[in-house]
Amino acid sequence: MTLPTTRVSFPGGAVTGESTVLAVHPLGDGRWGVVTAGTPFHPLDHTWPDQPADTGTLTVPGAAGAEAVELAVVDCLTGAVDPASGELLVGADIPVRRGDEAWSWLVLHVLPELAQGVSPESLVARPVTLSVDAERRTALSAAHTGCHLLALALNAALAARWRKDPGRADAFGNPDFDSLAMASSVMDTEASTDVYRLGKSLRKKGFTAEAVDELPALADALPVITADVNQRLAAWVAADAPVRIEVPGPELTARRRWHCELPAGSATIACGGTHLHRLGQLSSLETELILSADGTELTAVTRPKRA
Ligand SMILES: [Zn+2]
Repeated sequence: MTLPTTRVSFPGGAVTGESTVLAVHPLGDGRWGVVTAGTPFHPLDHTWPDQPADTGTLTVPGAAGAEAVELAVVDCLTGAVDPASGELLVGADIPVRRGDEAWSWLVLHVLPELAQGVSPESLVARPVTLSVDAERRTALSAAHTGCHLLALALNAALAARWRKDPGRADAFGNPDFDSLAMASSVMDTEASTDVYRLGKSLRKKGFTAEAVDELPALADALPVITADVNQRLAAWVAADAPVRIEVPGPELTARRRWHCELPAGSATIACGGTHLHRLGQLSSLETELILSADGTELTAVTRPKRA
C-alpha cells in the first residue's frame, strides 16, 4: 500500500474540511479506519499520547440524487505504512517514532461499523465532508493550552529549588522542571493532569525537595508554590495573550511549535496538539498540586474555565 502522509488543518484550528477517501482499513471488531488526503481531525499520537483524539462525523454525498450518508467518527488514530512491507500499522503497533521519514503517516478516522449498504471499497475515491465535534475540540484545546502555561508557571515557581543549572531552560530562562521531571501528561475535556517524578536522577541534576538553608521542604512549601503558580496563570489569562501554532508544513508529521505572547515575552514549546487562539477565551485557569505520601511524585491538575 502506498499512501501519502495525511495533510492536517487542526493546527490552525480548523474543525471542518472536504477531502477524498484514499483507503479504508479494517481495524478488527467490525471497526474501520478511513484515510483521507487531508483532515481537520486531530488523532491520538502514538509516541506521546497526551491529547485525546477528536470525534465527529464523515459525510459521504449520495450518488445520483440519493441522500448523503453521515458516518460517526468515534475515535481517531495514527497509522503508519512500513516502507519495506507496505503494511499499515496502527497506534502502539508502530515500531518507529512519529515522523520517521521513510514511513507514511496517516490519520485514521475510526468508524464503529459501516452503515447498511456501505462497503469499504465503495468509499474509496469518494469526496467526503469531515466535521469535528467543535465543543469537545475547544474543551481539549483549553486543557492543552492550560498544560503548557502550567509548565511555564511551575518552572518559575520552582526555580529557587535548583542548586545548580540542570542544563535545560524554558522560554523564560528558568530551569525546565516540567520537561526534566515529566513522567506523564494527559488532557481531557475538563483538565490537564501532569505527573512529575522527583527521583534520584532529578536530584542529581540539582533539584532539591528537602529543606536546605532558607528553603522549606517541598511538602511544606506546596501551598505557597501553588499560590505562586495560580497567580502567574491568572495574570496571563487576564492579559488575554494570543496563542498560535507555528506550522512549517501541512503534513501530520511537521514539527509544529506552540507560541504564546505572554507579558514577559514570547514563549514557545514543541507541540503536536490543538490550542485556543487567545487566553481571553478562558475566565480562569487554576492548578492543584498534589505531592505523593512518599514525596517522589508531584501531580498537577490544571483546570481551565472557559469564558
Ligand atoms: Zn502540547
